[in-house]
Amino acid sequence: MFLTLFGAPGSGKGTQATHLVERFGIPQISTGELLRAEAASGTKLGRLAKEHMDRGELVPDDVTLDVFRRRLSQPDVAGGVLLDGFPRTVPQAVELDRVLEGMDRQMDRVIFIKVPPEELVNRLSGRLTCPVCGRTYHPVLAPPKNDRLCDRDGARLIERDDDKAETARRRISVYLDRTLPVLEYYRRKGLVSEVSGEGDIGEVRRRIMDAIAAPHGGGE
Ligand code: AMP
Repeated sequence: MFLTLFGAPGSGKGTQATHLVERFGIPQISTGELLRAEAASGTKLGRLAKEHMDRGELVPDDVTLDVFRRRLSQPDVAGGVLLDGFPRTVPQAVELDRVLEGMDRQMDRVIFIKVPPEELVNRLSGRLTCPVCGRTYHPVLAPPKNDRLCDRDGARLIERDDDKAETARRRISVYLDRTLPVLEYYRRKGLVSEVSGEGDIGEVRRRIMDAIAAPHGGGE
């Protein structure tokens, strides 16, 4: 099964992806995480990516596609993958179709987690992330059990540079301009199931599971 979780920054994609990979036993590919790892390793590509990420802009398609293709060439993707934060531009979606075709595969479903834009800024500002496992928390909306420590592995939580308020607003506006057209691309193919991202994590998860179980177009 090739699934994409689609939604704005702060829509809960990463959180829901963690549950889905456990449930379906398929690997998650988050281009954000791949790009952050590339940036941390200090390569030329990584430094270029970081400049864009720190400004809340998209990383250029050729760089993003390079790290994505490298990840997709690993053997664990044979049974399917859950894409989180990719594709984010129409050219990325077109290239993804081409790569999947070469693997004799196709995208099975795109789950759109819909959250009103005004709520996204609240969710992103103050968001805390575990630097070890990537799980996210929010001091008010989803606090960790122990102050500033990850519930899963006890690591000290950090605020991602690009979650600071001004950059977060820029990421949302970039999403509306450049990433929303990708949704139209998949709608025309009849692959989109839309679920509300409002309410608690468990409710959203149930909506996503129902949408996956329904025939194509279910959940809209
Ligand atoms: P995320 O962890 O998905 O919120 O992504 C963090 C940042 O990484 C984004 O704001 C972009 O700068 C960059 N990024 C992640 N995925 C992509 C992508 N598919 N295309 C371009 N830039 C991306």
